[in-house]
Amino acid sequence: MKGTNIRPLVIVGAGAAGLFLAALSAKLGHCPLLLERGPQVGRKLRLTGGGRGNLTHVGDSSELLPHYRPDPRFLWSLYAAWPPDRVRRALLDFGIPTHVEADGRVFPDSQSAAAVAERLGQIVTEHGGQILYGSCVSALEPDHNGWRLELEHGGSISAAKLVLATGGAGYPQTGSDGLGLDFLNKLGLPTRPFSPALVRLLWHERRTRQAAAGLAGLSLRDSGLALDRQNRTRGELLFTHTGLSGPCALNLSGRLDPNGSRLSLDLIPGEALAATISWLKAAASGAGERQLLTTLGERWPRRLLEALPVISPDWARFSRELPRRTRSLESSQIENLAALLHRLTLEPLHPAPLKEAMVSAGGLSPAALDPRSCAVRAIPGLHVIGELIDLDGDTGGYNLQFAFATAGAVADALAGQ
Ligand SMILES: Cc1cc2nc3c(=O)[nH]c(=O)nc-3n(C[C@H](O)[C@H](O)[C@H](O)COP(=O)(O)OP(=O)(O)OC[C@H]3O[C@@H](n4cnc5c(N)ncnc54)[C@H](O)[C@@H]3O)c2cc1C
Repeated sequence: MKGTNIRPLVIVGAGAAGLFLAALSAKLGHCPLLLERGPQVGRKLRLTGGGRGNLTHVGDSSELLPHYRPDPRFLWSLYAAWPPDRVRRALLDFGIPTHVEADGRVFPDSQSAAAVAERLGQIVTEHGGQILYGSCVSALEPDHNGWRLELEHGGSISAAKLVLATGGAGYPQTGSDGLGLDFLNKLGLPTRPFSPALVRLLWHERRTRQAAAGLAGLSLRDSGLALDRQNRTRGELLFTHTGLSGPCALNLSGRLDPNGSRLSLDLIPGEALAATISWLKAAASGAGERQLLTTLGERWPRRLLEALPVISPDWARFSRELPRRTRSLESSQIENLAALLHRLTLEPLHPAPLKEAMVSAGGLSPAALDPRSCAVRAIPGLHVIGELIDLDGDTGGYNLQFAFATAGAVADALAGQ
């Protein structure tokens, strides 16, 4: 193996993307060689969906694309060829039936991401492919045969066609530590450094972390968070000992400045401002001796209301002017209070480090790739798939959908040769 014979197809990285491509191409008779630095296939895949594997998310392209950043245009033709339904059909063909759960997330019927990884690995070897474990590619360069790969522990491999599927740089203990980006940089391709996405947020100031620690465990089922007009999310928000988590915070994390960003929190994103004003007016007219905190407590946990001055400078300022009794609210105060409940500026937050991130932003610019084949336009015989490409998705199966679809695009190109 480690010698001069030329392998027709070498895939570097047996994560979700590399494994799916190896299975598809093995079935097509392309005898892929899958090189994996670790001891097993799909180490990150096994962790997905809390171990259950949220494999994709149903929807058409216009529904899916808003869930990706920074520029999802690449996905129009990719997802026209590989929509979630086709990913599911391919999985079924591999003996991995799936089902759709609440809000469109797709899971394997086995409820086991590890079983999915094992099954894909089996398909590869059953159909004439080969997986080499403990094989870390340390360098690569084009040569007269196609590609020459150097392995960290010695030896080299020649490949006619090379696919890089080395992943991003989050959760490096699963094998993806960002090495693939060095290869792309040395080849002179346009890349962006990896940075954390889908990661919890931390209060930037120590004093806020200390003062807000008591909110840990509190969950708001439907909240909105916004960085600016373009970058806003909605969904469940969780308070942790040190900051915010839950889909609403995770999906925005990749846009935050590591030196701290100010977000605004909407406590009632599903309600129009006019409806909030009406609710407060009604409460003020019939409240008797009721305290304002008790009125607000009908809708939000007391623990949150008491901590608002700590996490929101707006609230800290405004609440000093508010009366204790609800019926003492003046109409201008009602309007300001309603507006604030929809737009509370928070103390600065920053994303947790890359090593904790479920997904990383950054990687190869999609503009360098043909979306129908994930072939690098400028370098014949090279394809790049999965998280190594600079497109990251929300939680909910969007990242595995992307990994599988990019793998599918390479398989289509191989089938059409
Ligand atoms: C805890 C957690 C939960 C997640 N849950 C979900 C979810 O439910 N749904 C979802 O859509 N996404 C989820 N994700 C994200 C998803 O797992 C990734 O986006 C996806 O695995 C990326 O696939 P990939 O093949 O591009 O990279 P990876 O899966 O990271 O695979 C890359 C592989 O390349 C190997 N490798 C790297 N460098 C080399 C080298 N030089 N030589 C040889 N091998 C190398 C690595 O060992 C690794 O096996 C989750 C991520 C985490 C961490």
